[in-house]
Amino acid sequence: MASFEELGVREDLLRAIAELGFERPMPVQEKVIPHLLNEDSDVVALAQTGTGKTAAFGLPVLQRIDATVQKPQALILSPTRELCLQIAGDLADFSKYMHKMSVLPVYGGSSIESQIRSLRRGVHVVVATPGRLIDLINRGVVHLDLVNTVILDEADEMLNMGFLDSINEILAQVPPQRKTLMFSATMPKEIAGIAKNYMHNPVEFVIGTRNEGAANVNHVYYLVNAKDKYLALKRVADNNPNIYAIIFCRTRRETQEIADNLIQDGYNADSLHGDLSQQQRDTVMKKFRDGVLSILVATDVAARGLDVDDLSHVINYGLPDDIAVYTHRSGRTGRAGKTGVSVAIIHSRERGKMRDIEKKIGKKFERKEVPTPKHIIEKQLYNLADRLERVDVNEEEIGKYFHGVSRKLCWLSGDDLLKRVLSLEFNRLLDYYKDAPEIDYVEDRKPKKEKKENEVDNRPRTNKEKDRRTAEKGMARIYVNVGKSDGFYAGNLIELLNHNVNGSRVEVGRIDLLPNYSLFDVKKGDAARVVGSLKGADFMGKRLYSEVAEPDKNYSRAAARRNREAVSDDAGFETFKRKGRGGGKKAGRRKK
Ligand code: AMP
Repeated sequence: MASFEELGVREDLLRAIAELGFERPMPVQEKVIPHLLNEDSDVVALAQTGTGKTAAFGLPVLQRIDATVQKPQALILSPTRELCLQIAGDLADFSKYMHKMSVLPVYGGSSIESQIRSLRRGVHVVVATPGRLIDLINRGVVHLDLVNTVILDEADEMLNMGFLDSINEILAQVPPQRKTLMFSATMPKEIAGIAKNYMHNPVEFVIGTRNEGAANVNHVYYLVNAKDKYLALKRVADNNPNIYAIIFCRTRRETQEIADNLIQDGYNADSLHGDLSQQQRDTVMKKFRDGVLSILVATDVAARGLDVDDLSHVINYGLPDDIAVYTHRSGRTGRAGKTGVSVAIIHSRERGKMRDIEKKIGKKFERKEVPTPKHIIEKQLYNLADRLERVDVNEEEIGKYFHGVSRKLCWLSGDDLLKRVLSLEFNRLLDYYKDAPEIDYVEDRKPKKEKKENEVDNRPRTNKEKDRRTAEKGMARIYVNVGKSDGFYAGNLIELLNHNVNGSRVEVGRIDLLPNYSLFDVKKGDAARVVGSLKGADFMGKRLYSEVAEPDKNYSRAAARRNREAVSDDAGFETFKRKGRGGGKKAGRRKK
C-alpha cells in the first residue's frame, strides 16, 4: 500500500494530515489523489460518506491552487450547508501549512452580503450549495473563468434535492478544460447524464461494492406487530445503555411523535425534520454532535446535513420504499473502520421489502429477538458495574466529604451498600418492566384483533396514562400557552427556561406537549420563579402566559380562549387584549 507521499501529496499538506492522524491513505484516496494530480481524464467515484473522500479530492484540489492568484480556481458543490461547512473546515485543516490559502463556504440561509465581501477580497476555493452559487453568479460577484477543478460531492443527493438544472447551469459557466470529479453513493441515470454531457472520458472508480452499505455494517431486524413498534424501539434503546443512534422515520409527523414519546419516557432524545426552523435544526444537530443527545429521531431529508462518524446504531423505524435510502441510512454507521449496526424494526408485512433490500445489498438481515426485560435489566446492571469500575475518583475533593458520609453509612455491610447503589438506578427499571408483555412476533400467532384494550394496557408506560395535569411527587406542574401547533417542542421549552429564568438552572421533569399548550414539571421550589419569568416572555412572537396547573382546570379550553383573544398587531406579532400583561421579555435574552 502506497503512502501519501508516494501518491504525490506535497510536503506542506503531508505535515497537516499527519497532525490529523492520517497515517495511511484510504482506498478512495489511493485511487483519486494520483489521478487528480497526474491524469487528464475526469472521474466518477461511487463512494459513500465516511470513506475518506473529502481528503481524496481536497488534497489534490489544494495542491493545484496557485495561491498568488486571488481568484477561485476550484469549485466544490455540495447539497447542504452543513456538508459545505464541513468540507470547508476539512480543507482549512489540510491547508494549515499552505501560505495564504483561502477557502470560502457559500450557502443559502445566511447573509449573502458577508459572502460577497469575502468573495471581493479574493478566495481560492469556493465550496457552495448550487442555489446560492447561482445567486452569486447572477449578481456578478463570482467569476469562474480560472476554475481548474470542479468537484460535485454527493451528486445523487443534489439531484434528489432538485439541483439538476442549477448544476447544469453552473457547469456551463466553468472553462471546458477544467477537471471534473463527481462523487455519488448511487448511480441514477441523471448522474450518467451529467457525466456524458460535462465530463471528459470519465474514469469510474467504485469504492466498496456499488450500492452496498459499508462492508462492516451488520443488518439486523426485529419483527413485531405494528402496534408494538414503539415498545420494541424502547427495548432496543434500553438494551444498549451507551446508544448513540439516529432513528429514521418516514414522515415529519411520525418523527416528531416518536421523539416526543421518547422525551416523555425519559430518553435523551430530540427530533430533526423539515418543520423546524434552520436555527432549531442547527441547535439539535449541534447537541447531537456534541453528545448532549444520544438519540436523534430524523427524517431522511433533514438528516442529510448531519455527519457523525461514531454512531453505534442506525435504526430504521420501518423500512423505506426506496432501497437507495436504506443504503444511505445504513452507510451512516460502520465508518472509519468501525463496526456498525443497522437495525430495522418491522412488522410482518414489511418482510417483502426487507428481502428486496437483501438482494440489492447482497447481505442478509439477521433476525434478533426483541430484548426481554430480564436481558435488559442484566445488561443495564453490568453497564452500571462497568461505570463504577471506571469512574474517576477525585480523591482530594471527595475526601472533604467522605469521612462524614462514611460514618453515616457505617452500619451497612459492603454487600448492602452495593445493593443499594445498584437499586438507586434499577428500582425504576424493575418497576418499569414489571409485567411487561412478550412482543416478539410469533409466526403462527396471528395478531388478535379482538384483544381488549386493558390487556394492551399492561404494557409499561411510565407517564402516558397518568393525569396530565398532576405533577410527579415533589414537583409542580406548570402550564404555558404554547404547544406543538406553535412549533413548540421540548428543546424550545428548555431554551426558553434557560434564557428567561434567573438564578440556578431549572430542572425539568415530565413534559406534555399538546397542540395548543404544554404542561411540564419543575421542582416545587422553582415553580414561582418559572411562572414569573415565563409570563410576558415571548416565543416566536407569541406572548406567553403561564401558571401553576390546577388539576381540575380544562386547559384545552383555556388555551383555545386565549388564542381567540390573541390579535395580530401591525408588526405581525400577537399581543393579548387582556390588561396587565405588558412588556414582553424576549426569549433569547437572559435576564441578569
Ligand atoms: P470523509 O468520508 O471525508 O467524511 O472522511 C471520513 C473520516 O475519516 C473523517 O473523520 C476523516 O477525518 C477521516 N479520514 C480521512 N482520511 C483518513 C486517513 N487516511 N486516515 C485516517 N482517517 C482518515
